[in-house]
Amino acid sequence: MAGPPPDPTEPVDIRYDNARQRLEITWADGKESAYDYEFLRWHCPCATCAGEMGIPGHLQFVTELRPEQYQLASIELVGHYALRPTWADGHDTGIYAFDRLRALGDEAAASLRAKERGKSQGKSQGEGQGNEPSGRGHGRAGSG
Ligand SMILES: [Zn+2]
Repeated sequence: MAGPPPDPTEPVDIRYDNARQRLEITWADGKESAYDYEFLRWHCPCATCAGEMGIPGHLQFVTELRPEQYQLASIELVGHYALRPTWADGHDTGIYAFDRLRALGDEAAASLRAKERGKSQGKSQGEGQGNEPSGRGHGRAGSG
């Protein structure tokens, strides 16, 4: 029996980097995706955040998140199909199915690029230049 072909929505490696605030997934077909925590929180699929059956979710009424809403407290695997993060504000009802995460990959990459552009604002470094021109007239007059 030959093994099944790689499932593109199956992660083979999941890493989270709290310093850079991103979740990185390597998929079975070799593709890599990275998700900013804030991006993930905005895409929380739970009924409270995203709404359900025509009822708008909480996130549709806010324009920005508080920092504790996108700090990751912990993350756990749900069966073989999803990730469930717990956010620093205690919110843990969002279950992110891998096929959904895979589908969000390109959007997440664009969001990360935009964020990095915004962050790298020109840093100028002034070099101290302490060089005063000291010109003192030296008069010499007269010739032998
Ligand atoms: Zn939620």
